[in-house]
Amino acid sequence: MDNSPEKRIRSVVDQCADCEQCRDMMTEVCPFFSRLYNLFDKEKEESVPITSIDLRGLVELCNFCGLCPCPDIRARIMDAKSSFIQRDGMPWEIKQIQDVEKLGRYLTRLPGLTNSLVKSRVTSGIIKRIIGIHPDRILPEIPVRDFLAWARETGLSVKHYGNNVSKPRVAYYAGCSARYFFPDVARAAVRVLLKNQVEVYFPPQKCCSMPTLLEGDVPFTRELMSCNLKYLADSIESGYDLVCSCPTCGYMFKKLLKEKACYSSEYQDMMGGDETFMLVPLENGISPPEEIRHRRVHRSMYSGILKDDGVFSSLSPLKRIDIARKTFDLGEYLLNIFRQEKLDTGFSRVNKRIAYYPPCHTREQNMGLPYADLLRQIPGLEVKVVQGEYLCCGMAGIMGCKKDFHDKSLEMGQPLLYKIWEIRPDLLVTECLSCRLQFLQTLPLVQAHPIEILAQAYGV
Ligand code: SF4
Ligand code: SF4
Repeated sequence: MDNSPEKRIRSVVDQCADCEQCRDMMTEVCPFFSRLYNLFDKEKEESVPITSIDLRGLVELCNFCGLCPCPDIRARIMDAKSSFIQRDGMPWEIKQIQDVEKLGRYLTRLPGLTNSLVKSRVTSGIIKRIIGIHPDRILPEIPVRDFLAWARETGLSVKHYGNNVSKPRVAYYAGCSARYFFPDVARAAVRVLLKNQVEVYFPPQKCCSMPTLLEGDVPFTRELMSCNLKYLADSIESGYDLVCSCPTCGYMFKKLLKEKACYSSEYQDMMGGDETFMLVPLENGISPPEEIRHRRVHRSMYSGILKDDGVFSSLSPLKRIDIARKTFDLGEYLLNIFRQEKLDTGFSRVNKRIAYYPPCHTREQNMGLPYADLLRQIPGLEVKVVQGEYLCCGMAGIMGCKKDFHDKSLEMGQPLLYKIWEIRPDLLVTECLSCRLQFLQTLPLVQAHPIEILAQAYGV
């Protein structure tokens, strides 16, 4: 029982019940906290004990949106969830739905047939049941041609495409949603980069592994990331920056992948730690190793807790740090070009009012709102940013598709939907394709990724 998943999540319940600092706010916006306090109050006031089934159900309510104030709390929820999966196994349908890449490959193989099967009430129900999707979840239209085919045809899959070493170079990480379901987004990303004289390479890539991490499948998460590490580290060694058009993939490569890597012996040896002292970075930024400031901490006090023992600890810590340093969100990358006064600002006029929603994982990257700044350069475009610390669409990647989370996910998204609707925009713009799925379900608005608006204004 000592290290059981129940014990792990119970310790979270006790800590938050003891603290209660964010109780009022978080019970309003997060189903995990609302259930946590509901269980705890019943136990305390009515002597109804919190059971193992309650605790198992509780971990399913966290979608890792990052809105809660304590990062260690959400990390411990995920840790408890993966330890449930490790001990009790994963339901078959969750195994299917978490593998977004496989799903994308199968569904896009025969797009015409898939679309008609999904449109028919009878077959759609059967397909959704097989892959564990809630019957009411609306799926996007499957495109006739995915991005991979286009990238192959246009020569993007060849390194040193363009062969001009004086140009800035990026390895473009499209993510599963843009590769299979929204290829227009990936094509727009490439076209806007090329328009700005950036050389683009599309390296081999696997799912960023966020969906499998959220489902608690640690071995599969490591397997996917290990492939990514190989391909992406190779691109970085060849002088490419890594650019992501999906904020969740960017968040994974910039932040989660490198977590705790600095405590590894490889990092300590590189930076000059020794047998007595460890060097702990003072900043979590992207400075080159030689510019990072460190605090010296005594090993005898801290080596027990400062360990590289997270989900990715079996993968090279130096490569993880390298990838994090060289990863940019696409908006962030373009805004850097703009700040260097090198961005092509020859945009044509777009007379529209847009509601721009910066998703949770853009906010988690602490880089401001690069797309809002870029979109404001387009003449005629009225940009209304939909902001609020606790606003989330509730979709959480694939979680909102799941039978048991669908209703909760819609409930979580309600306050955001009202805010967007109040603006009455011509277009709803967000870079998160998972949010887009939620909005497809809930709002009768035309949607776009900001990069599609920039591409349109360039006329590419
Ligand atoms: S998430 Fe953090 S601040 Fe909020 S109740 Fe739990 S421990 Fe306290
Ligand atoms: S990460 Fe999001 S869903 Fe999970 S506990 Fe925090 S606020 Fe709730």
